[in-house]
Amino acid sequence: MQHSRYSNVFALGDCTNAPCSKTGAAIRKQAPVVVENVLKVLAQQTPTAEYTGYSACPIPTKYGKLMLAEFDYSNTPKMTFPFDQAKPRWTMWLLKKYILPWLYWNRILTGKA
Ligand SMILES: Cc1cc2nc3c(=O)[nH]c(=O)nc-3n(C[C@H](O)[C@H](O)[C@H](O)COP(=O)(O)OP(=O)(O)OC[C@H]3O[C@@H](n4cnc5c(N)ncnc54)[C@H](O)[C@@H]3O)c2cc1C
Repeated sequence: MQHSRYSNVFALGDCTNAPCSKTGAAIRKQAPVVVENVLKVLAQQTPTAEYTGYSACPIPTKYGKLMLAEFDYSNTPKMTFPFDQAKPRWTMWLLKKYILPWLYWNRILTGKA
């Protein structure tokens, strides 16, 4: 997340040119990397934290059904759950509709998840 020419410039989110899908899910993984690397640079150390390109796209397939696609820079699936997330599921729809908004406001924005 460090600028390739200007070492005191870091970026995250949709404004970067990282070749990943631009999502809030990606930013959640980028933010700790940026924090760790900025702190290292401020301490005059080499930044070592890396972002893998992780991103996630909740894809509703119809009302009440959703696929949660998670992948990295190489489009390799990076599934969180121990079942096939390529299958549209009601439980994944519930996750998107009810759990993710709660997670966003209460855990992600406060830096706890
Ligand atoms: C329809 C839609 C659905 C999405 N669904 C999902 C989802 O389900 N899951 C998911 O993870 N991601 C989703 N995303 C992507 C996610 O919303 C973005 O990746 C994320 O909001 C980007 O955050 P950001 O802070 O980098 O940029 P932004 O949220 O775009 O914030 C940039 C801010 O900068 C402000 N700004 C711009 N220019 C200036 C200026 N000159 N001066 C001052 N301020 C300025 C803008 O007003 C804005 O508030 C969705 C996006 C869209 C559009």
